[in-house]
Amino acid sequence: MNEFRLLVSGSRSWVRRTVSHDGLTIATVLNEAATDAARAGCPGLIIVHGACLDGADKVADGWALERRRLGWPVRPERHPADWRRHDKRAGFVRNKAMVALGADRCVAFIDVCRKRSPACVAAGPHGSHGATHCADKAEQAGIPTVRYVTAALYEALAAVAAPVSDLSTRRDAANH
Ligand SMILES: [Zn+2]
Repeated sequence: MNEFRLLVSGSRSWVRRTVSHDGLTIATVLNEAATDAARAGCPGLIIVHGACLDGADKVADGWALERRRLGWPVRPERHPADWRRHDKRAGFVRNKAMVALGADRCVAFIDVCRKRSPACVAAGPHGSHGATHCADKAEQAGIPTVRYVTAALYEALAAVAAPVSDLSTRRDAANH
């Protein structure tokens, strides 16, 4: 059996102490994935991420290094965006490449988009673009994907009765 590839995507505003609307931190979710991988007989867990210098990528990378020091069979696999070559599209290009490498599961930690016009012209509340794009691409590629959202995003969507059907729960992950 191969190592378990967990694709982690998330907003830059999602830091270590940030919790999802239902109370989960990134560490909680990654601990669960490690348990699942071990139960499935995988010899290791690879945390695949976009190597952002802050936010969810940084938290996930730190988690992987900490657990590795404790002797867990965990390692990060970093995919930094090439901003020089692809400019503003770099994050999206990188996400597609990361997804194309394949993963056993994708977990996305999405906070509300904090950009303002002209950087963001989308109407209504929505999740940050990069993390949402990565989760969308993973889903389209058939990778079981779970989206964790902050209370801020969850409540903003609920306030305008936006569909929350894309907000998978932990139960969805367990069923895959
Ligand atoms: Zn936006």
